[in-house]
Amino acid sequence: MELEHGIAVVTGGSRGIGLAVATELARGGAKVALLARDGVRAMEAAGGLPGGGHLGCSCDVADTAAVGEAVRHVTGELGSPTILVNNAGITRDTILLRMKDETWDEVIDVNLKGAFNMARAVIRGMLKRRDGVILNISSVVGLVGNPGQVNYAASKAGILGLTKSLAREVAFRGIRCNAIAPGYIETEMTAALTESQTQTLLTRIPLGRLGVPDDVASLARFLAGPAARYITGQVVVVDGGMTM
Ligand code: NDP
Repeated sequence: MELEHGIAVVTGGSRGIGLAVATELARGGAKVALLARDGVRAMEAAGGLPGGGHLGCSCDVADTAAVGEAVRHVTGELGSPTILVNNAGITRDTILLRMKDETWDEVIDVNLKGAFNMARAVIRGMLKRRDGVILNISSVVGLVGNPGQVNYAASKAGILGLTKSLAREVAFRGIRCNAIAPGYIETEMTAALTESQTQTLLTRIPLGRLGVPDDVASLARFLAGPAARYITGQVVVVDGGMTM
């Protein structure tokens, strides 16, 4: 139980990749708080995690005040967070020509500002304790781009700059900050892919299948734990070889 005594906050932990990551962290012995806008679903998901004493709560990560409140609530119930996984994310795809200000802003606010809001809310506690791990879920789209996703790709590339700058900022206190860049992972986010889109994608994935949330979660558990103690400021791609 390498994460025993760990207190983890996973944003977007109510389903998909976030829920798989939360499950692995709980298996590692951490107490986990799941944050999502739908608080009921987050609470139900928290109730299903291995071990006991986990927490689910409603929080829109784009809302600075709500993030402060949620982190105070988690700290009061479980203690000061030692692991933060910035996983909450949305897509609002359309070509640049048709993209409205709101469509750009919404994606940047959730995917990028949300990660900033969360990191700022937990970092003081981590600095005080001289211990902490921050994992940011980016995307291969942030590395190689994707037509129809200028907002999403910009947010996911932004996450990489945030990760590396923060890693440099807090390393002196032993705090690590890394990013994971998944390829195509089967979740509600990618459920809209048609059969022919999936077949086309598969021709580009050397390992011959789409990813599943557990493919990301096992890496997250490793990066959150002591075996990754000398790894910081890195971006680890989990995409079946698609973008090698
Ligand atoms: P899902 O759509 O399945 O889940 C998204 C999660 O984020 C839900 O729990 C959702 O809950 C939560 N969420 C969305 N908006 C907010 C918000 N404003 N505040 C708090 N929570 C929010 O997505 P995935 O599991 O597929 O994706 C998880 C992360 O992985 C995302 O950052 C995504 O960009 C990234 N990713 C996914 C890939 C994939 O192929 N699936 C590939 C690469 C990266 P609620 O709606 O209740 O708020």
